Amino acid sequence: MKTIKVNIVTPDGPVCETDASMIIAVTETGELGILPGHIAMVAPLKIAALRLQKEGSTQHIAVHGGFLEVRPDVVTVLAQSAEISTTIDIERAKIAANRAEEALRSTDKDTDFNLAELELKRAQNRINVFEGKL
Ligand code: ATP
Repeated sequence: MKTIKVNIVTPDGPVCETDASMIIAVTETGELGILPGHIAMVAPLKIAALRLQKEGSTQHIAVHGGFLEVRPDVVTVLAQSAEISTTIDIERAKIAANRAEEALRSTDKDTDFNLAELELKRAQNRINVFEGKL
């Protein structure tokens, strides 16, 4: 079966270097399925799971924004942060979700609601990827 290389990179370093028979990414304009030989393109990513399919199994990676660069033989993801499902600290994600929800309920005029919303999205994405709810 044909495969395509996948590199996921964050400012902290590489998160994943592997290959897949298909990659499913959630871009700002919708879900995209990438097979080997896909035309070259660049797309901004949503806070969502990246799915790597290979030999009948799927690996889930929580990706928090950034960009996807597709070339016919390699897909590169440049994200602010990204975690493979097995490396997610679920307790930390739940604490972050509670903290963000609390901030969103706040009546303090200094609360940064946009920031809290993004924090909640990241935490929820980690929880979903960890729990396989996709
Ligand atoms: P927190 O409030 O828990 O720090 P955050 O969304 O603000 O969450 P980020 O700024 O996205 O965190 O990430 C900072 C670093 O911590 C990154 O390297 C990211 O991969 C890692 N990270 C954040 N939350 C988790 C988690 N629940 N499990 C594993 N790694 C995490």
